Amino acid sequence: MTKQRKPPRFAVRPETEILTRGYDPSLSVGSARPAVFRSSTYVFSSPESAERAFAIALGKAQPDEDENVELIYSRLSHPNAEILEDHLVPLEAGASSAAVFNSGMAAISTLLLTLCRPGASIVYTVPVYGGTHMLLYELLQPYGVHPIPVGAGDSAALARAIAGAENLAVVLIETPANPTLRMTDIAAAVAAAKLRAPRPVVAVDNTFMGPVFQHPLELGADVCVYSATKYLAGFSDMLGGAVTSADAELVAHLRSTRALLGNILQPDECWLLDSRLATVSLRMNRQSKNATRIVERLVEHPQLSRIHYPSLFEDLEQRRIYEAQCEWPGAIFSIELGGDKRKAFEFLRRLRITKNAVSLGGMESLACHPATTTHSEMSAEQLESAGISMGLVRISVGIENWRDLVDEYTDALDAL
Ligand SMILES: *Cc1c(COP(=O)(O)O)cnc(C)c1O
Repeated sequence: MTKQRKPPRFAVRPETEILTRGYDPSLSVGSARPAVFRSSTYVFSSPESAERAFAIALGKAQPDEDENVELIYSRLSHPNAEILEDHLVPLEAGASSAAVFNSGMAAISTLLLTLCRPGASIVYTVPVYGGTHMLLYELLQPYGVHPIPVGAGDSAALARAIAGAENLAVVLIETPANPTLRMTDIAAAVAAAKLRAPRPVVAVDNTFMGPVFQHPLELGADVCVYSATKYLAGFSDMLGGAVTSADAELVAHLRSTRALLGNILQPDECWLLDSRLATVSLRMNRQSKNATRIVERLVEHPQLSRIHYPSLFEDLEQRRIYEAQCEWPGAIFSIELGGDKRKAFEFLRRLRITKNAVSLGGMESLACHPATTTHSEMSAEQLESAGISMGLVRISVGIENWRDLVDEYTDALDAL
């Protein structure tokens, strides 16, 4: 529906493109920022255009280039979703389309429900986000979908699983893994997937590093999924989800499923998220620099048996993947307090600037104890094999002055 404003006269970079493409002020009485279109339904200019809009929505006809297809009903799409989707595209290197959802879980579940039928299998990396784990085992498995876990970072096991899985529909890679930051080689997974016919869809949950520091579509992945709740929104004040891809047909298919599930991101939330996109790169760069400086100061502290952070990887294979696949180490790190839950809790209790909360990616620093919260659905053996001990605390670094955070963490560690 949104008419394209005149594009800049020469090709521009993503930070500029977000601010110049997509939105046409003349469709919002000249307002410099988009209006919020809260309507549930849209008035057709003629019965013929209604007929045409339905034919295109149902996939019976394809829109012509530059055709102004009229909107129908907000569960299918609405102007603020279209503007937001248009603005997401330049943020993701290699993407041509995007779809927005009312949470990260809505994006992931819509993707998997679209691609999997009874008998299909899904190869996925572990540890995986807790909600994704529940989705795979509580919802999809009873419908006859087979989840096949592979340890994050084990390229050989991943290639074997991809080669051997029956009726493989999706390879779902979450990298870096939460909360150990262990990385999986996206290009290697794509190479293994390409050996199969039909080729499974390679999806990357890019919430931790994307869209700024890691570019899965450029490495050959088919689709990126995001919890937009985290870095994309960045203020811990809304839920959202997104999918980006170079495959416009796949995105159109996801939008059709979205219309059935009714999980499109609502107009107000789209407007809010849209205003945040122009600062994603600024925020993530600042947060990553903060985290790097903090980790450098903490690494020698005697209370710490280990810090999990990409620039500190000692494992050569992990270091190789990190250098091949990420531009910067990002803003999440985990500290290991010798497996001691009491020390981990005491550390959390002493924090004043950093809040004890799950979630990540916001402007304010957050810390949590994964083994008893975000990862508490895992068994003791699963936690152990994923390297998530009772002494591990995950920290998501915000945009505060990094020196204050160093002081806070050093003080809390000294007191243990
Ligand atoms: C938070 C998160 C999700 C789920 O997103 P919601 O917006 O909470 O639904 C999925 N994957 C990762 C990696 C996450 O951090």
